[in-house]
Amino acid sequence: MKGYLIDLDGTLYRGNEPIPHAAAFIANLHRNQLPYLLVTNNSSRTSEQVSLHLAELGIDVPPGFIYTSSQAAAQYLLEHPENPERSEYAERRRVAVIGETGLKTALEAAGFELTEDNPETLVQGIDRDFTYAKLTAAVNHLRAGALYVLTNPDHMLPSGPGFMPGAGSLAAAITTASGVQPVIIGKPSPIIMNYAIRKLGLAASDVWVIGDNADTDIKGGELAGCKTALVLTGVATSDNVKEQLSRAGVQPHLICKDLHEFSLEVFGNSYRPPSSL
Ligand SMILES: [Mg+2]
Repeated sequence: MKGYLIDLDGTLYRGNEPIPHAAAFIANLHRNQLPYLLVTNNSSRTSEQVSLHLAELGIDVPPGFIYTSSQAAAQYLLEHPENPERSEYAERRRVAVIGETGLKTALEAAGFELTEDNPETLVQGIDRDFTYAKLTAAVNHLRAGALYVLTNPDHMLPSGPGFMPGAGSLAAAITTASGVQPVIIGKPSPIIMNYAIRKLGLAASDVWVIGDNADTDIKGGELAGCKTALVLTGVATSDNVKEQLSRAGVQPHLICKDLHEFSLEVFGNSYRPPSSL
């Protein structure tokens, strides 16, 4: 029995376009009741919003099969109530947030109080309304001893024909100004990978990590002790794959043109994708 941790952007879709064979691949996992989670560094959407977005692209995944860096950040705070800088707090329940709906929702669902008033923790993700005032407040929280948790370290994200800065670029400003380094939750951090593996209820060596990014998906999978498969449908392509792997210093177990090729490799000739997809 194997489980699957699957990336979203560049693996199942690109922006608003589904990637060929993605819907069939997911439908096959469901049909055969194979354990899987979609694991995303994107903290901006809730798992319900991700599920709706996938449905619009013809990919049927219930919210419970989606695990975001926001949910993993909330889980990390639940499991690490101590803050060495602020030992007067037995429980860190007060959290300042720089982020969007997905992050705020995940923290509130886990029972944290979102506040700018003397928070014990600063949790930061992508925030497309980031301002100088937010930067200033964040730096002052950290200088007062708040623990700094970063949902994901991505510097840049694909956006339309170009790119846009990710959570990691905002973190660079906060880190430079405060001198405080964050705890990183998202891929390639083993924190999100280990929580996801635990949710599957499998040993890491029985889990395939599948994604398009050598730096995050493959590195994260390697660090967590999983099997790794790089698909050439997003950041990595047939043109740049060698360079991407050598820069990331990783070697996936499989390099596949797409999810159909992965399925043939792993499920063999018995793989029959649902014909309607
Ligand atoms: Mg990706």
